[in-house]
Amino acid sequence: MSRMFVPGPVDVDPQVAALQTRPMLPHRSKEFEEIFHRAADKARQLFYTQYRVFLVTASGSGLHEAAVRNFARESVLSCVNGAFANRWYEAAVANGKQVDKLETPWEQPITPELVFEALKKKHYEMMTVVHNETSTGLQNPVREIAVAAHEASPDTLICVDAVSSLGGAKIEMDAWGLDMVLASTQKCLALPPGLALGAVSDRAMAYAETVPHRGWYFDLVRMEKHRLKDSTPATPALALIYALDYQLDRIMSEGLEARFARHSAMARRVQSWAEQRGLELFAPPDYRSQTVTTVRTPPNLDITELNRYLLQKGMRIANGYGALKGKTFRIAHMGEIQMADVEELLAAMDAYLDELLSV
Ligand SMILES: *Cc1c(COP(=O)(O)O)cnc(C)c1O
Repeated sequence: MSRMFVPGPVDVDPQVAALQTRPMLPHRSKEFEEIFHRAADKARQLFYTQYRVFLVTASGSGLHEAAVRNFARESVLSCVNGAFANRWYEAAVANGKQVDKLETPWEQPITPELVFEALKKKHYEMMTVVHNETSTGLQNPVREIAVAAHEASPDTLICVDAVSSLGGAKIEMDAWGLDMVLASTQKCLALPPGLALGAVSDRAMAYAETVPHRGWYFDLVRMEKHRLKDSTPATPALALIYALDYQLDRIMSEGLEARFARHSAMARRVQSWAEQRGLELFAPPDYRSQTVTTVRTPPNLDITELNRYLLQKGMRIANGYGALKGKTFRIAHMGEIQMADVEELLAAMDAYLDELLSV
């Protein structure tokens, strides 16, 4: 099995992958509805929520669209300090919303102070923020941002992208007062791509009912009517839901706290390795991701060549994303990756870099 130190799609445990070959069921059958109910119910633990979790057949970006269509008639504040946050901003613009961008240099976090100021200056129905920005390896202080947002504008719905952190870092939706938290399956949850998970608060659901033109496929009000009957408006990705049901058992048997600790230990190891090698990390101390590390690429290092070398050993890392391609590289430490895998990767990278520096 190759080891994918890339921030999605990540390696899937063979037993989890095998579950997808389970015979299909009619999606309107009792048998399937039971599996669907069980998976959605268990998934709430990942979000630390008592509210509902929608299992949506789409990648995570689908829920970016769902959020802006369901929770705003007009006004959206979009916090942007990375490529994925900017995608959410673009989704809001593409859906005809009046979107204001709150942007910081991408090396810097979105701060509670900036959010407070923006929400005091103008009223917004909803705001978007990315918890773990996969392009920069930066984790935004979402808990503190939510406190500031509630203080500045209590009725603004707080929507959070946790695509590359759900299941790898703790996000307490209810305790932090978040209204929507969305994620994809192919990152820390270590499942194949194709399914998105979205937890939504009661007050956000109530607001959605007042928003016109929510569309059809991502209409959460329609989805909720079906969800209450353990069903979906359209045919769901059955195979992925079989796999999710089982993977959630594996995740809970590792234990969420233990899983978060494993991710953060791997992050510390990779980040201190980089610093010891004199490499520069993109994100500042205190805001570094615990699921993916973004490193500035030194001038003489070619990531394609490095990957060619790593692939001979069955490993692969990721180049920078979007505008950061060629300028940074990324090592993901998420999902099924263990510390022993990280050690093997770093040893291989040391061997490669030592060789490179000696010529
Ligand atoms: C991967 C990623 C996305 C996009 O998710 P898809 O499932 O590819 O649509 C969005 N946000 C973040 C933070 C991501 O890491």
